[in-house]
Parts: sequence; C-alpha cells; structure tokens
Amino acid sequence: MKTHDPSRRKVIPVYEPDLSGNEKSYVMDCLDSSWISSIGSYIDRFERSLASVVGVPHAISVSNGTVALHLALHCLDIGPGDEVIVPSFTYIASVNAIAQTGARPVFADSQLHDWQLDPHAIEPLITSRTRAILPVHLYGAVCDMPAIMQFARRHNLYVVEDCAECLGASRGGIHPGAFGDIGTFSFFGNKTITTGEGGAVVARDNDLARRLRRVKGQGQSLTRRYWHEELGFNYRMTNVAAAIGLAQLERLEDILRRKRAIAQAYRRLLSKIPVDFQLPDSSVNSTNWLVSILLPRECDRARIMAEMMEDGVETRPVFYGAHQMPMYANLPRGDLKRASEISARGMSLPSFPTLSPLEIDQVVASLCSALARQGIASIGEKKTG
Ligand SMILES: *Cc1c(COP(=O)(O)O)cnc(C)c1O
Repeated sequence: MKTHDPSRRKVIPVYEPDLSGNEKSYVMDCLDSSWISSIGSYIDRFERSLASVVGVPHAISVSNGTVALHLALHCLDIGPGDEVIVPSFTYIASVNAIAQTGARPVFADSQLHDWQLDPHAIEPLITSRTRAILPVHLYGAVCDMPAIMQFARRHNLYVVEDCAECLGASRGGIHPGAFGDIGTFSFFGNKTITTGEGGAVVARDNDLARRLRRVKGQGQSLTRRYWHEELGFNYRMTNVAAAIGLAQLERLEDILRRKRAIAQAYRRLLSKIPVDFQLPDSSVNSTNWLVSILLPRECDRARIMAEMMEDGVETRPVFYGAHQMPMYANLPRGDLKRASEISARGMSLPSFPTLSPLEIDQVVASLCSALARQGIASIGEKKTG
C-alpha cells in the first residue's frame, strides 16, 4: 500500500484515514448484494456497535455530523425565539446547526487549560429565552459535564453534546454523549473513525430516540409506510457508509491506542519547548484526536506553518472563534478573551493513526527549527535571537 509508505510521501498530512481492516470486503459485500442505499444489515450492525461503545441504548445513523446536530435541536423543539448557549471556540457546524433551526446562538468563553466550554461562563448568559446548552468536546478531550449538567438542571435546559471529535474518550468512566439529552457524532474523513461522510445521534430516552429516527426519515411512521406523522428530513446514512463505519469500529481500540502513543511521543519530544499542550482535567481520558498546541504568545504562527510546509510537514491552525464570522458578529455573547487567545495561538500537528515514529521526529525537528528562527529555544538553552 504505497500511500502508507512514509518514504514515498511528499508531505506528512495532518490526517488520513486508515482503511486497512474489513472496510473493503464489507463494501464489496454491499455491492454484491445490491444493498447500497439506506436499508441494509450494516446500518443496524453499525448503530448497535456505536451504541455499545458510547454506552447508551440508542444510536441512530445520519448523513453527517452537521445534520446530526440539526436533527437533535429540531427534535428538542428548538426554533425561532429560542437561545442556545455554545462555545465560540468550536468548528462552525456547532453554531450553524443552531442558526438553521431559527434559534439564536449565544457565545460563551472557553477554558485556557483544556480549551473546552467554561461552565462558569454559562450562567451569566442565561435569559428567559435560553432553551439549551451545546457543549462541544474538542480535540479528543471532554467538557466538565458534571458542572454543565448541574447548570442545565437548575435552569431546566436541554443539553446536546457535540461529540464529533471525541469518539472513544471518557470522563469519570462515562463516554461523552451519555451525559446530556442527545449526543452527536461525525464520521468525516479526518475524524477518529470515518464513513466518508457520516454522522450519528445517540440518546437514552426511548421516545426521543423514536422521534429522532422518524424525523431523519421524512417523518415517516416507523410502522406504517408512506404515513408521515410530522415534518421530517432525509438525513439517512447509506449501507455502504455504515459498512465502512462498522469495519472502522472493529478497530477503534487499535486506532485509539496508536493515537495515544502519538500524543505521548509529541509530549515527550517537545517537553523542553515552550509550547502549551491541551491539558484535560484529571478525570478525562482524552483520545488526542488532533494533537494540538498553543504557540508562545510572541510567535508568528503563519510563518511557522509556512516554514514547516517547506519541510514537507502540514499543520493546521485551530478554529477561529465563531463570533469573528460576519454572520455571527452581532450576536449576544460573554467575554471571549480566552476563546480568542486559543484561536490565535493554536496549531494542530499531524496525528493520523499510521503516523510513524520517524515522521513524528521529522515534525518535531521542523517545528523546533521554525521556532528557533523566531528566537524561541528549548527551555534551559540560550536564546540565539
Ligand atoms: C467535524 C465536526 C462537526 C461536523 O461534522 P460534519 O460531519 O463535517 O458535518 C461538528 N462539530 C465539530 C466539533 C466537528 O469537529
């Protein structure tokens, strides 16, 4: 498999999926059996397997992680006139899904140590219109869900957890998505497991799960064909995508083990360099989805990234704050100082499961030279200017 041979790779990418398990044979099985649309045994097996990973009774596949969020909010009857509290520092889909229901996103700040929604930033933003909190578990870590659930219960709010980046993580032994009313997942090509494009919602409540399943399929009754009980959407996943997803889930433990080893290697090799790694709370078992760092404040990030690219190392800036986007610039919000700081200083390093130790050394060497050219040396070394 030449794409997995590092010597033939021109640029070390930030991400590429590892499809070396049963993916191909399961897809061929779909083609041979002609079950390529949204009915088929792989859909059921994928959903059951995902529910067991998360530890919830219901997992429902959908076509991507953005519609998973929209379906979740819609099925909690969130719409025009409502407000949903969301971190500004997140991938834009978390915010777009709120706006797509007609509700208004209200931006909360993040914590500097773990980059997650700050639970203490929530309460001051609550108004009579607030209906839900949408915590986002970023970069493989997990938000302070016990604190967030406490605020939610006190103010009678729904909680939709965006778990797109944290499959396989846990907090106090509980998988994210199992704390709130609904958890949503994405299986895009750069996520922990992929189905190409794909997503899922998980829920504990039986009635809510039935509604999610009905609404994702045009609102059609689950027992009576062509009888549509309410407004619905076509958010279905294909059996082909689920076949890839099932093969990926079979190897989840292996993928997670490799990702944790990669993160440990980066932390060890960069321990004397003044960059800040994401620091999850002690009860969190992070999956290190993308190993990401905050560069020193005085650093020119664009120049670091350009110089690393010249060495054949792709990196990626972390997300901009959603409040910086033109369509969300005039919304109510708290103080977003820390979200802005993480956005400005953050950078993701190559983190895909088949990244080799040799390639990790290359990434680290390239980062260290780029930092040295800006006068940033290892701790304990003299600055060369
Ligand atoms: C990837 C991602 C999504 C959206 O998933 P898609 O499958 O690309 O629609 C939502 N939220 C977060 C935090 C993500 O990283």
